[in-house]
Amino acid sequence: MGNVAKSEDFSEWFNSVIKDAKLCDLRYNIKGFIVIMPWAMKSIERIYSLYCAELEKYSHEPAFFPSLVHEKSFSAEKEHVEGFIPEVFWVTEVGTAKLEERYALKPTGEACIYPMYSLWINGIADLPLKIYQRGWVWRHETKATKPFIRGREFLWIEAHNVFADKAAMEKQMPEDFAIAKSVIWERLGVPFIFLRRPQWDKFAGAVDTFAMDTLMPDGKVLQIGSTHLLGTNFSKAYNITYTDSTNKPSSAWQTCYGPGINRIYAAMFSVHGDDKGLVLPIDVAPTQVVIVPIIKKGSEKEVNGAAEDLRTALSAKFRVQADLSDQTPGFKYNKWEQLGVPIRVEIGMRDIASGSAVIVARDTGAKRSVPLDKIAHEIEHEGKEMQKRMMEKSSAFLTCSLELAHNFDEAVKMVSAGKMVAMPFCSEGMDGAECAKKLKEGSSCDARGVAVNHAGCKLPDTHSLEGKKCIVCGKKANVTMWLSRQY
Ligand SMILES: [Zn+2]
Repeated sequence: MGNVAKSEDFSEWFNSVIKDAKLCDLRYNIKGFIVIMPWAMKSIERIYSLYCAELEKYSHEPAFFPSLVHEKSFSAEKEHVEGFIPEVFWVTEVGTAKLEERYALKPTGEACIYPMYSLWINGIADLPLKIYQRGWVWRHETKATKPFIRGREFLWIEAHNVFADKAAMEKQMPEDFAIAKSVIWERLGVPFIFLRRPQWDKFAGAVDTFAMDTLMPDGKVLQIGSTHLLGTNFSKAYNITYTDSTNKPSSAWQTCYGPGINRIYAAMFSVHGDDKGLVLPIDVAPTQVVIVPIIKKGSEKEVNGAAEDLRTALSAKFRVQADLSDQTPGFKYNKWEQLGVPIRVEIGMRDIASGSAVIVARDTGAKRSVPLDKIAHEIEHEGKEMQKRMMEKSSAFLTCSLELAHNFDEAVKMVSAGKMVAMPFCSEGMDGAECAKKLKEGSSCDARGVAVNHAGCKLPDTHSLEGKKCIVCGKKANVTMWLSRQY
């Protein structure tokens, strides 16, 4: 790591971490397109596995849909196409010949998937249909791109579900929250708030959008995934109908869900990292344990041998490496700390003689000597304790960053100080679009929505906001709106 303190300049810290820990290479030379390097990709693969397993636990099945979309299919749902057209990459030529029809590189999967759903779904027996795809999409983002956070090609999962009625559709939203909670909070230790987005900020073509927002260390909110109730908007556009019990054709009800894997990864290493580099949750660390031999002159063979034996013994239970390179122990400590390996084991002649080794936790740096015959158990225990400490820390950060604002100036001041702020809001006319616009103009604060759930944090008691006036227009407040700066 350079000499950048995370708390002083998060953006600089982020840039050094991705470079020093070799998470990605930015030299690909097409704006918004990055090369994700093995150390990051190994964790990302693990995040994918956790997420896909959880989706399958809730009866989703995997499938693969192509990347190219017919323009005609893409244009079927009016709001959807209007929302996405400005960001679409088009394929117009093959070799030297112009294509008769241009194809969109999918910015999201609806237009690829729903024409097929129209063919697959006929009767009530075909429902519910719950399919997910892991993959990537392309969006020509106009905002400034940032590695893992805003790219023009990014990794995600999208789940597309079809139901017979509205009630079944509505049940999917809390299920999507539960899936996010069990992966993003319980395994990765990233707390988040689940908000219903205002109507002006919903997914193009959706009836309602709910999103997972987490707070980055610089006090800006990052949306790490979203779920959308589509009603029958898309099923009407794409003719996804089934024959109901009275033998009449009925439009199906749909949801779609998009956890942003790049962003979840970015949130994870940003929330947990420290001035030495990454601090990775043990479940997704590419290497969970690194063994560093402490060599004094003449003891190379014996100590390296013991380190190698220990690596073999531990590899039955952990992802483990022994660093037998010629570097000094200090150099090795820095290297593996920068990479965020959760547990370091140090072993030297004195440890060998006493049948022990020293284990060091990445987050606290605390060292303790443990007997070699119990070391696997001790590492497992330390890994669990470390995970708990990381979760306590990230939870405290988000919880302490949530505040209540009773007037405009107070809200602006808090948001500028990196807080997420709840305030009384009229939500009148398109969920308060006008008031939100005024807020944004006067302060660069974004209205994120109304909290419907949360994971890994405590929301403040909003009792004192009840019966208050909208802090922008002074009309009666109907909702408690969350406000923040955003990525
Ligand atoms: Zn208002």
